Amino acid sequence: MNEMIVTDNLGKQYRDLVALEGLSLQIPPGEIFGLLGPNGAGKTTTIKILTTLARPSWGTARIHDFDVLRQPLQVKKLIGVCPQEINLDRELTAYENLWIYGRLHRMTELKARIQELLDFGDLSGRADSLVRDFSGGMQRRLLILRALVSRPQVLFLDEPTVGLDPQVRRQLWNLIQELKLGGITIILTTHYIEEAEMLCDRVGILNRGRLIALDTPQALVAKLGGYVVETLNGGRRQYLLVRDKEEAYSRAQMEPTEVIIRQVNLEDVFIQLTGERLTN
Ligand code: ATP
Repeated sequence: MNEMIVTDNLGKQYRDLVALEGLSLQIPPGEIFGLLGPNGAGKTTTIKILTTLARPSWGTARIHDFDVLRQPLQVKKLIGVCPQEINLDRELTAYENLWIYGRLHRMTELKARIQELLDFGDLSGRADSLVRDFSGGMQRRLLILRALVSRPQVLFLDEPTVGLDPQVRRQLWNLIQELKLGGITIILTTHYIEEAEMLCDRVGILNRGRLIALDTPQALVAKLGGYVVETLNGGRRQYLLVRDKEEAYSRAQMEPTEVIIRQVNLEDVFIQLTGERLTN
């Protein structure tokens, strides 16, 4: 068994709504895999099934060869989950938050593990500060550290940088890249296309419960190819996809307003495939 995560025809139905339709994935150990998709595409549903919080309606999912439905305890021992909402205890210190989580997971040598994590997340100077006094970026870092207390082999990051300013977002990207160097497998959902391009070895694009693309960001961009002519018309930005630079220049000359010519990026691929923008 070489893959860390394998799903086969995984599906979820809520009453008359099919939230996930036959997802088949293989994710090798050490990969950062990005799950992208517009709102309601089925990303959270997928993560909930993989983390044993929701039952699949059909199909299977295995983590390190343990079935999420039939062997949830073994699966839970292997994973760390960093949820979208910051559910830290705000009235406790950073250290106490990690300590309680570690005790729940019956971790031994917890003190040393917490110190190691606080150093890694650059929070050791704030170990005894209440979480309610932390900045948004510090809280997000602590949330990731908490998911790492039990030394998981797979880490789920659901929108890890949502709402952070670009500089703080970059600090978190560095942290995630350092984690990858340690060999952990990471499943990441994000609405920030730059984040997916920067961090992910491969991305899967979900739309209305179906996987519509799966590849490296570079390959997805290369497959679409071409250039984009961006114009600003009456305050609205418009995007025109053209085959090559020459066509882009001749199109640009026809425009009365200022234009930007650039190569296609992952966001263009996303829009082309889903008909929607990822970021609002
Ligand atoms: P977002 O980016 O908005 O978080 P998502 O890709 O994570 O979206 P999901 O939360 O997986 O999407 O939702 C997929 C579909 O399933 C949506 O249409 C959603 O309304 C529906 N859904 C999710 N959870 C439930 C539930 N508990 N009961 C009924 N329908 C649900």
